[in-house]
Amino acid sequence: MKKRWYDYLWIASALYLTLGFFNILFAWLGLLCFFIPLIIAVVGGNKAYCNRYCGRGQLFSLLGGRFGLSRKRDIPRWMKQKWFRYGFLVFFFVMFFQMLWVTWLVFSGARELGGAVTLLWTFKLPWHWAVPAAVTPWVAQFALGFYSVMLTSTVLGLLVMVLFKPRAWCVFCPMGTMTRLICKARNSGKE
Ligand code: SF4
Repeated sequence: MKKRWYDYLWIASALYLTLGFFNILFAWLGLLCFFIPLIIAVVGGNKAYCNRYCGRGQLFSLLGGRFGLSRKRDIPRWMKQKWFRYGFLVFFFVMFFQMLWVTWLVFSGARELGGAVTLLWTFKLPWHWAVPAAVTPWVAQFALGFYSVMLTSTVLGLLVMVLFKPRAWCVFCPMGTMTRLICKARNSGKE
């Protein structure tokens, strides 16, 4: 099948994580992966983002499928169930708002800019070299927080890719769950 431009968006995803290693301000670009799926779901009422434009999903397909890095085992049933998918979405939001709160504290001067990226919501990885010297502290703090979210979800996605199927992450990905809910709500209104 002829390749289209959007079949190469996995390069953008890989590039995103790489650039954040050199300059954390590139992490702001990750907001595109946050707003575009929501806009497509709200305006179009479909999951075109997941089906076509998600570079991260493509990256998992490529590494797990073409490069054979996945054991291609069945995804556990509990991972597909609503309690887990919605529970993970809620957990994700709690952590996301906590990240926004820390950004607010830095913005208001109640806290100093950190120099770390938090992996899996627990492990603090030093990242100070990627924070430019002349930067507004809250701008860098948000970037560190957002990059932590992106890195954590990628690492988790890679883990379940290896253990189960290439796109196992998509089963409980918060963006996927959110857009699915939006499409459902939007399309039920048409019936
Ligand atoms: S479920 Fe998440 S990772 Fe998978 S394609 Fe959709 S947005 Fe991308």
